[in-house]
Amino acid sequence: MPIYEYKCEACEKCFEKLTFKGDDEKIVCPECKGESVKRQMSCTSLFNTKSIGSCAAGAPKGFS
Ligand SMILES: [Zn+2]
Repeated sequence: MPIYEYKCEACEKCFEKLTFKGDDEKIVCPECKGESVKRQMSCTSLFNTKSIGSCAAGAPKGFS
């Protein structure tokens, strides 16, 4: 399943979200709960690194 990166336009918080097939739920910023989020190809220039989770600082996480 794909993990997409999003960026909040309000507070510029980058975050990731697992999306499921047919998942069209509203994406909101985990920081400010804003709804003005844009899907990113990559939030940072770390795109070439192996770490997908490099966007949200220190956020290696499970799928819980
Ligand atoms: Zn925000």
